[in-house]
Amino acid sequence: MLQFFLLAAQNLPADEQARVELWLSIFTGVLLFLIFSLLILAVLIRFIALRSTRPCRWCMEFISNKATVCPRCGKEVKPVDGPAASAKDV
Ligand SMILES: [Zn+2]
Repeated sequence: MLQFFLLAAQNLPADEQARVELWLSIFTGVLLFLIFSLLILAVLIRFIALRSTRPCRWCMEFISNKATVCPRCGKEVKPVDGPAASAKDV
């Protein structure tokens, strides 16, 4: 896509070409920043979700640390205080 814009700018005067290249590099930088910040945000949300959930000892579905009954299989589970993401703590 950048190649297309650079080709389209070939017939412009030199100072206009420099301006187009500058704006394209700014646009590319902003685009890359947005993509990477979204990726980091997704990883953070996943990490936070894993800290507040644990696998059910009966069906291995991820449930809240505070749950006393598994919403999926309906069996009783012990609530866990604090972050615990391993099956042995359930
Ligand atoms: Zn369950």
